[in-house]
Amino acid sequence: MRLSVPAPEDFGVEMVGVPEGAAIELDLRLEAVLEGVLVTGTATVPLEGECARCLDPIASTFEADFQELFVYPDTRSGGNAEDDELRLEDDLIDLEPVLRDAVLLALPLSPLCRDDCPGLCAECGARLADDPDHHHDVVDPRWAALQDLAGEPSPGPPEGGRGDSGPRGSVDQQGKQEG
Ligand SMILES: [Zn+2]
Ligand SMILES: [Zn+2]
Repeated sequence: MRLSVPAPEDFGVEMVGVPEGAAIELDLRLEAVLEGVLVTGTATVPLEGECARCLDPIASTFEADFQELFVYPDTRSGGNAEDDELRLEDDLIDLEPVLRDAVLLALPLSPLCRDDCPGLCAECGARLADDPDHHHDVVDPRWAALQDLAGEPSPGPPEGGRGDSGPRGSVDQQGKQEG
């Protein structure tokens, strides 16, 4: 049994979550058991979030398996006062809490845009993925003192776009339009 349900609000964790209203695909198997209905399923949810390292937006999908027993309303659980017990109400199964548990517990707390995301430069915040050769010339404090003495901070070399073949990366074409 397959169905698609819209994602409820606040369906996510800090860094990543399911956009509200996005379609959650459910692949469900319902089994009648003595006490109720055993629901086994897989939820495929669209994810949006931010890379924990470079803060790039992430869009991906995520699968979570779940299994939950929904007991019939008139079934007493033998005196065990379990308020958490899920119950079938009018034969309708409220899957949202089950999905919430299954998906939110399994979401990556630190999602990455890719496994080897280099993140941001600790010095200036530049995205290292865009500029693998990015580095800062660390000025020896003794030389820095000399520069202070000279009084005129020397401007750094102009940054030009070098056409060297780097690792494969996206080519951004920026066209300036003047009119
Ligand atoms: Zn990243
Ligand atoms: Zn930097």
